[in-house]
Amino acid sequence: MDLNRAAAQKMDEQDPLRHFRSQFLFPKTKSGNDAIYFCGNSLGLQPIKTKTYVNQELSDWANFGVHGHHEAKHAWLPYHEFLTDTMANIVGAKPIETVVMNTLTVNLHLMLVSFYRPEGKRSKILIEHSCFPSDRYAVESQLRFHGYDPSKHLIILQPQPGEAYVSNEAIEHAFYQHGDEIALALIGSVNYYSGQAYPIKFITDLAHQYGSLVGFDLAHGAGNLALKLHEDGPDFAIWCGYKYLNGGPGSLAGCFVHERHAYSYELPRFTGWWGHNKKSRFKMSPHFEIMAGAEGWQLSNPPILPMACLLASFELFELAGMDNLRLKSLQMGNVFFNLLDELNHPNLKIITPRLEAERGCQISIQLKDADKAIFNKITEAGVIADWREPDVIRIAPVPLYNSFTDIFDFIQILKGALND
Ligand SMILES: *Cc1c(COP(=O)(O)O)cnc(C)c1O
Repeated sequence: MDLNRAAAQKMDEQDPLRHFRSQFLFPKTKSGNDAIYFCGNSLGLQPIKTKTYVNQELSDWANFGVHGHHEAKHAWLPYHEFLTDTMANIVGAKPIETVVMNTLTVNLHLMLVSFYRPEGKRSKILIEHSCFPSDRYAVESQLRFHGYDPSKHLIILQPQPGEAYVSNEAIEHAFYQHGDEIALALIGSVNYYSGQAYPIKFITDLAHQYGSLVGFDLAHGAGNLALKLHEDGPDFAIWCGYKYLNGGPGSLAGCFVHERHAYSYELPRFTGWWGHNKKSRFKMSPHFEIMAGAEGWQLSNPPILPMACLLASFELFELAGMDNLRLKSLQMGNVFFNLLDELNHPNLKIITPRLEAERGCQISIQLKDADKAIFNKITEAGVIADWREPDVIRIAPVPLYNSFTDIFDFIQILKGALND
């Protein structure tokens, strides 16, 4: 591919999603220009409208006090419901299957309480190698909580010898070997380090065939992949609201519970009053009456301000459409791969799978000899990306606000840093 800057600009002009870029606020470089922002996988940018949405709630609080629960422009009592339909669309779920609540690791614990139900020999949890540390800490603590030793009850999904990624064969092999011992499989898709997108349906079908339950941590998947959670059928999923969903630092998280469990009131769960049937919640009865669907896992009345942030961002997702975003994301990834091929530098190795089905926005570049100086140079030149120990730069071109020109400019900066 022969891509010069003019050609990249032409791609931007023809991009049907190009208008969304101006709906976001970009951090500035020292010289006062917009930074090249490739960290949407870590903290999404702020939509311009977020301030308006948050200010609305602040003024409704000022004007109505407690009456804001009913009288605010967006009444606070059912506020989380204003997010439900878009949340469901973003992850390919039915509204009854999703809820916005808590933060990610909290939701993971709530899901583990309900869906990690060890019995006899079937007592182990399967997780992927290099899974996000918080997931591992959560899972290990749940194992201990049930009286198990994590060193014996955790099965780690590894790439097969000599391979960089976990192939479908490796996943099949893990189930073939341990299928009758696995109570729950918990996989992070997209993997935060390698950028590998795991095949959700394939893993779900396999786990179910072997009689185990399966959940996904979609912190790096929600708002990134074109997910079809209902159809693909995992038992649960969780994700955070501040990465691709642009909900702001520490924003509220999402939770998916498949419809087949929507009325499973007998499942063990930790409960709070917000999971109580909303029609009779304020009768304040000592008898707990669980709400159907994912909402039944809510604990507390939720914080309105971070939900206002999400509402501002969800408006943009609704307008853009997840399928269109995914299409542009793949095009951006292809341009990125091609330009790196052209650069053909011996010190760079892409560790993200090249196959479209196996990646999202993020592309992870491994630097020879863990040369962090290269990362420091690109940072100095106005690129916001991130460094993951020991030797990886993660770059996430995000279709809502990144451009093809961003990618072109980044590659020139990288080239300069390598040849310096
Ligand atoms: C970002 C991320 C988290 C962060 O958890 P919080 O509870 O939001 O702090 C957890 N797991 C994965 C896979 C992540 O990518």
